[in-house]
Amino acid sequence: MEKKLIGVDLGGTSVKMAILTKDGEVEEKWSIKTNISDNGSHIVKELGDSLNQKLTELGLDNQQFYGVGMGTPGTVNYEKGIVKGAYNLNWSKEQHVRDGLARITGLSIFLDNDANVAALGERWKGAGEGGANVVFVTLGTGVGGGIFAEGQILHGVRGAAGEIGHVTVMPENGYQCTCGKKGCLETVASATGIVRVAKEMAKEFSDVSELKQLISDEKEITSKKVFDLGKKNDQLAVAVIDRISFYLALALSHIGNMLNPEKIIIGGGVSAAGDSLLKPIVSYFEKMVFPVVRESTKISIATLGNDAGIIGAAWLALPDDEDQEA
Ligand code: ZN
Repeated sequence: MEKKLIGVDLGGTSVKMAILTKDGEVEEKWSIKTNISDNGSHIVKELGDSLNQKLTELGLDNQQFYGVGMGTPGTVNYEKGIVKGAYNLNWSKEQHVRDGLARITGLSIFLDNDANVAALGERWKGAGEGGANVVFVTLGTGVGGGIFAEGQILHGVRGAAGEIGHVTVMPENGYQCTCGKKGCLETVASATGIVRVAKEMAKEFSDVSELKQLISDEKEITSKKVFDLGKKNDQLAVAVIDRISFYLALALSHIGNMLNPEKIIIGGGVSAAGDSLLKPIVSYFEKMVFPVVRESTKISIATLGNDAGIIGAAWLALPDDEDQEA
């Protein structure tokens, strides 16, 4: 019988888990709530117990698995299997996640951070189509990313490779970012960043606009509202989307010029805007990149949604010689 994979996507509110074939097809999927009480000290135990219980339920034993791949928030020390700084899990101190989980399950454990794992998922089974050079950018409450280059994920010297959200796109008069610097892509292209740009641009906008009216009336607006109004040709919304697309294209053009990946995939909640986001980005991107990059690096929208994490995590546990597509 062919060995299977287990993918775990650890988040601040839930832990998503799945059993997959070695080709990345999800066979079984379940989740538990993340118990962040007592400094998150129950998390590893509870997810390990849940895995054991599921395998028993399905009549499967450890010999039938290559191992468990897991995506986690925070900074991952890949050599030691330690996670630190995952504040949404209340893990302020170092956590020996790999060894703890291996002890409970008896399985081999492979860790990476959540943004990298989502990148791996999209690259393997989503819009990346198994390519060897794929970059993933996620636009959600923040802006994250992962770089898969020449067949492997890039970590960098301290695990900060692929922090696309902190590429400077406003060198002058940039907004303050949570990372401590100013003008980061995240401050203008995350869901909250888009609203910030809309409010700022509304101040100088004098034509008729529903978006302008909503902002003047202090109604709550969202990035989705901006895109919805953009589709209705609201002139302020169209201008906001154009501005944001420019910033995104600027950051992505540097990535394109530097890495020349076959695909740059845009995911996360904001990417639900689809073509109304993709088209203006591509149009700026094409003006900003080197000709060879223009011809060979394509930008597209992610296709896996919330499953990118469990699928990419599972890929971590796949032995190198089984990844035929890489
Ligand atoms: Zn930043």
